Amino acid sequence: MRRDDPRPRVSARPLLEVRNLSLDFSSPGGRVHALRNVSLDVPAGQVVGIVGESGSGKSTLAYTVMGLLPENAQVTAGSIVFEGRDQLTLTAQARRSLKGDRLSMIFQDPMTALNPVRTIEGQMIDIQHHEQGSRSAKCSRAVDMLKRVGIPDPQNRIGNYPHQFSGGMRQRICIAMALLVKPSLLIADEPTTALDATLEVQIIHLLKDLQQEIGCSILFVSHHLGVVAELCDHVAVMYAGEVVEQGAVRDIFHNPGHPYTRALLECDPGRIKQRTRNLPTIPGEVPSLLGSKKGCIFRPRCPHAFDRCVHETPGEYRVAAGQVARCHLLDRAGMVAA
Ligand code: ATP
Ligand code: SF4
Repeated sequence: MRRDDPRPRVSARPLLEVRNLSLDFSSPGGRVHALRNVSLDVPAGQVVGIVGESGSGKSTLAYTVMGLLPENAQVTAGSIVFEGRDQLTLTAQARRSLKGDRLSMIFQDPMTALNPVRTIEGQMIDIQHHEQGSRSAKCSRAVDMLKRVGIPDPQNRIGNYPHQFSGGMRQRICIAMALLVKPSLLIADEPTTALDATLEVQIIHLLKDLQQEIGCSILFVSHHLGVVAELCDHVAVMYAGEVVEQGAVRDIFHNPGHPYTRALLECDPGRIKQRTRNLPTIPGEVPSLLGSKKGCIFRPRCPHAFDRCVHETPGEYRVAAGQVARCHLLDRAGMVAA
């Protein structure tokens, strides 16, 4: 990393450093370039959000960091350094031992993580397999954690099966399981999307409290800007497989440097003051990720595009301390290359 790299840093070395990561999916239509030259840091003890429209590569990035990729995925370049070790060069066994110990994940659908034919008790005891202690000590830790996430009567309910809980309760159980192992990094892929607004707020507050209590970092994927503003310290904005802007949440939300970030903020229902039947959308569509791309990936939808955007891929420019964006307009405005 360059000495003057403006990506947010709290300690000397971030917990997670993704550098120049590119990933393709093979498909019948050709290679889908789902991640292109992605760089991102997650500092220790901080919450980093990833936002962007559907198909921008948010989940692909989260799953790649977690090491959960389908067989048709291929990392073509870059590194994922977690606690000082490049995940892409570790043996399968070394990666497995990190999962569920130093690295945990919460999925959009809780049933992805829960086994429908086993009780919560058995699953919560199994997840502590790295920990010392008797089965009853592990069960008691599990009950404490269920209580902490607001499951009523956890002593008795721990013997129930997943289908005996509501959707909101199942997501709380998944959070309890993910945090029971005290991971240093929790990856959350749209964990509140399937919940109603009230439950969403409760779960976000719960995650924030537990994150501060445990002191872990969170990489939080969401398309909901309000949730990101509430929970995250930093945010990376993704578009068509690229991180187009990143920085502190307050800077990105108050002074976005990239036209795509501005467009996303303008379309956020939470920020629209007047009553309307038709919520605004960004004109155009996320482009196909097949084949090679020349120029700026956002050009077909950008109201400010000019000649240079057609031929030249924009580099990263410093918008403010700790905030960078990829847009030729920033060069025009005299901002320094990052
Ligand atoms: P959403 O918010 O809808 O979950 P996302 O931003 O998380 O979207 P991804 O799911 O990461 O986006 O998808 C990024 C791109 O990769 C999309 O074009 C998607 O179609 C493609 N993609 C994802 N998984 C596969 C796969 N297994 N095989 C082929 N293409 C895939
Ligand atoms: Fe728009 Fe050009 Fe900036 Fe891309 S580089 S966001 S097309 S002005």
